Amino acid sequence: MRIEHLINGKSVAGRDYFETVNPATQEVLAEVASGGEQEVNDAVAAAKAAFPSWAGMSATERAKLVRRLGDLIAKNVPEISQTETNDTGQVIAQTGKQLVPRAADNFYYFAEMCVRVDGHTYPTPTHLNYTLFHPVGVCALISPWNVPFMTSTWKVAPCLAFGNTAVLKMSELSPLTAARLGELALEAGIPAGVLNIVHGYGKDAGEPLVKHPDVRAISFTGSTATGNRIVQAAGLKKFSMELGGKSPFVIFDDANLDRALDAAVFMIFSNNGERCTAGSRILVQKSIYASFVDKFVARAKKISVGDPLDERTIIGPMISQAHLAKVRGYIEQGQKEGAQMLCGGLEVPSLPNRVKKGNYVAPTVFADVKNSMKIAQDEIFGPVACLIPFEDEADAIRIANDTQYGLSSYVWTENIGKAHRVAAAIEAGMCFVNSQNVRDLRQPFGGTKASGTGREGGTWSYEVFLEPKNVAVSL
Ligand code: NAD
Repeated sequence: MRIEHLINGKSVAGRDYFETVNPATQEVLAEVASGGEQEVNDAVAAAKAAFPSWAGMSATERAKLVRRLGDLIAKNVPEISQTETNDTGQVIAQTGKQLVPRAADNFYYFAEMCVRVDGHTYPTPTHLNYTLFHPVGVCALISPWNVPFMTSTWKVAPCLAFGNTAVLKMSELSPLTAARLGELALEAGIPAGVLNIVHGYGKDAGEPLVKHPDVRAISFTGSTATGNRIVQAAGLKKFSMELGGKSPFVIFDDANLDRALDAAVFMIFSNNGERCTAGSRILVQKSIYASFVDKFVARAKKISVGDPLDERTIIGPMISQAHLAKVRGYIEQGQKEGAQMLCGGLEVPSLPNRVKKGNYVAPTVFADVKNSMKIAQDEIFGPVACLIPFEDEADAIRIANDTQYGLSSYVWTENIGKAHRVAAAIEAGMCFVNSQNVRDLRQPFGGTKASGTGREGGTWSYEVFLEPKNVAVSL
């Protein structure tokens, strides 16, 4: 199978191709067009040409088309989730029940929202000020390989619904479902040029895209290192940068421990641990630390690792052999640093025949981790939990904030005052109290510090996809 670029509503053959591989089996799934400056220039030109009539369409008409795209995704959930699972190794229970249906919801939500964009008025005795919200123009949407379909729709839906046009670049490691999104967009009646897709590597396709002078806004999700490079290369543009994380999951001794345990296991091991909001530093109060560690390890040992197409599998393969080597490197590092490895490790888990060649790592738990260790400071992005003991509230806050990142955070306590104090004190874009990560599409999603700038979701998406203009009329 060959996957081509989508430029101005047409399938455009690559001048070169790369392979995308099933990380569970190493089978080549497709040859994918590898784009560069030429394809980026063509795609941006198509998006620029399509912009005036798309932006000029009534929001109600645009909403109809955007909703129709949501319907087409909803109708094709089994097919899209199977493709996503094969391309990424994310387990089918997640892609089929959560991630792909959520992608349809993204279109429904922003279809409803775009007809409600209103302005503000600031009357004075001498002037009437009012605010208009204009679409920005051509937007570059860049997605990572983890949960790629959901992430790309989280960008495409508000971008298009608010009247912008887009050039989407997926990760070279997981391009397949976005290619399907392009087909469905055309089937939904979204005009040629409104959504363009250029496949390729970051350096070849991503960099010319972010540098292009006709690109007005960049919505990027990926690593902090790439985010930094993009900000430096792109020059003056609107940015939404959703970057890496090493989120603290803080459990006080007065927490509901059964629920906290469930959530802690879920937040580090679901999605193969390849999750930006993973609760990867689990901070546990010393008075309950020993018993919590025992229970956590017992749970981790029971997690099923295996074929991502099997509904019962919790942990599938890592996205690539390079990423597997990186995660394994951190497991070695943790042992060298003196953390206690209580389960998992470098031994390959036993696997069904179909996936024996997959990029697997067993759920791994390190206890007695010091927050200064590399395994506690770096984003491992795999199923590796770090358990860190703390003394009291002040100590918990100090450790939670002793990181370059600030994406998500989790606080578990039955003491309402403590819950609010700690939620306020943690340096992060999001804090969940007595809860795993539960997403409401209205909430501001994003991080502080090295986890990024800007927020997306609900009216927060205005920040990147709409340009406010004040009009002052002399009375
Ligand atoms: P990555 O930074 O390597 O790549 C992300 C995307 O950027 C890919 O499409 C890649 O091709 C492209 N790219 C690479 N170099 C580029 C350049 N110079 N110019 C333009 N584009 C370039 O990240 P990844 O390994 O694909 O994804 C994992 C990372 O994403 C993790 O750090 C994770 O935390 C982060 N992430 C963050 C969020 C969030 O919402 N904050 C969500 C998911 C993933």
